[in-house]
Formats: sequence, structure tokens, C-alpha cells
Amino acid sequence: MKIGIIGISGRMGKVLSEITPKDELIGGSRRATSDEELEEIVEKSDALIDFSTPAAALKAMSVAARQKTPVVTGTTGFSKEEFERTREFSQAIPILRASNFSLGVNLMAVLAKKCASVLPDFDFCIIDKHHRGKKDAPSGTALFLAEQASQKAQIVSLREGGVFGEHICDFAGENEELSICHRAFNRKIFADGALKCARWIVGKSPKLYSMQDYLEDMKCLG
Ligand code: NAD
Repeated sequence: MKIGIIGISGRMGKVLSEITPKDELIGGSRRATSDEELEEIVEKSDALIDFSTPAAALKAMSVAARQKTPVVTGTTGFSKEEFERTREFSQAIPILRASNFSLGVNLMAVLAKKCASVLPDFDFCIIDKHHRGKKDAPSGTALFLAEQASQKAQIVSLREGGVFGEHICDFAGENEELSICHRAFNRKIFADGALKCARWIVGKSPKLYSMQDYLEDMKCLG
């Protein structure tokens, strides 16, 4: 299987290119990549993995939709309109979009949903901590956790040092508090998850898939 990386020179792109088997990596796009080069990358790829910016992700998806190449995207910070465009492209090709590719965070979302349904009167707070270079706040993961719990959440975002990613879901009542914490120790955890999703998405029907679709299909969530 051949993989093309959108955003190959970024923090995630570099880790992904290190862990992708050499005979599977066809290369990737950077900010300076021309339209012709992008067309060629997509043409040679069985699937694209994108960790870039919303604008770059959408551009790659439009080429992929024309060439019928599946896309796995981890880019966060999409506006509502950008998200709608992603949904439109997924009518032509399978697209898997995940704010977080770690198994731990996806399990945390399942637990947060359970907590919210059992503790509806508790205050729900999410703390998201990331490195100082992260562009979006709140993180895509914090928004995903709030959405999965279907409960109004106060979100606090901290941007400091080199933190790879830390999320705390905190449920506080009058007399007790329940906290669930996830810490990423490196970026490999996200790159690994994205690579697994890319192997899974090839051959799927056009649709907007989530990481939970992949994890449920693989029976990873119990
Ligand atoms: P980064 O800023 O280090 O990398 C982004 C790269 O995209 C940069 O190198 C930039 O030059 C490049 N880029 C900009 N325009 C481009 C274009 N037109 N074509 C190709 N490349 C272009 O950021 P990062 O830490 O690697 O994160 C990238 C994205 O992935 C962010 O949105 C981040 O929030 C997200 N992320 C998601 C997960 C996850 O598990 N889903 C994990 C980590 C990061």
C-alpha cells in the first residue's frame, strides 16, 4: 500500500514519515508544493494522511475527491464551513476525520459520555494542555470530548512548553469529584493510529468516518 503525507515537514508529518515503512511512503506535500506536484502525490497514493492546516487539508481533499483517493485527516481547527466542505468531499471518497488518533483518548470519550449520563447535575470541565506551537484553542480533542459527552462543558486551554497533549475531563458535584486524565508521551501514538486508519479506509465506501468507526469495527472499545 502506498501512502502520501499532506504536511510532511510538520511535527506530525515528520513522525509519520519515520514510522511509515519506506516501501510504502511515496512522499508528501509541504507549504511550497506546487499544484502539479500535489496531483502527482495523490495519483501515486492509495491513501493520503493529512496533518497540516485546514486550508491545506481541504485543497488535498479536493484533488483526492477528483482522483478517488481515500483520505485520513487529523488536522484540527476547522470552521463550520470548512467542516461542511469536508462532508461534501466525503460524498465522493471515504474520509476519516479524527481530532485524536490515540486509543486512550477515544476510550476516554466513551467514559465521559457514561459519566455525563450518570452525573447530569455535576459540573463538567475539560482542561486541554498542549505545546506553545499549537495553533487552535480549544483543542479539537477537547471539542470532541464535549460533543461526545453531550453535556455543556467549561473548557480551559493551556499552551506551554513542549507538552505533546494532555486532557482532563473533570466532573464535580457538591460532595465529590471524578477526574479522567489522558497524557500523550510522544507524537508516535497519533501517527500510529493514523497509519492504522489509512490501512483500514482503503476499499471503504464514500462516507465521513470517525476514529470510533474504525475502533468499533476492530472491536477495540470492548
Ligand atoms: P505543524 O505546524 O508542525 O505542521 C503543519 C505543517 O503543515 C507545517 O509544516 C506547514 O508548513 C504545513 N503546511 C502548511 N500549508 C501547507 C500546504 N498547503 N501543503 C502542505 N503542507 C502545508 O503542526 P503539527 O503539530 O504537525 O499538527 C498539524 C495538525 O494536526 C494540527 O491541526 C494539529 O492540531 C493536528 N494534530 C492532530 C492530532 C490527532 O491525533 N488528530 C495529533 C497531533 C496534531
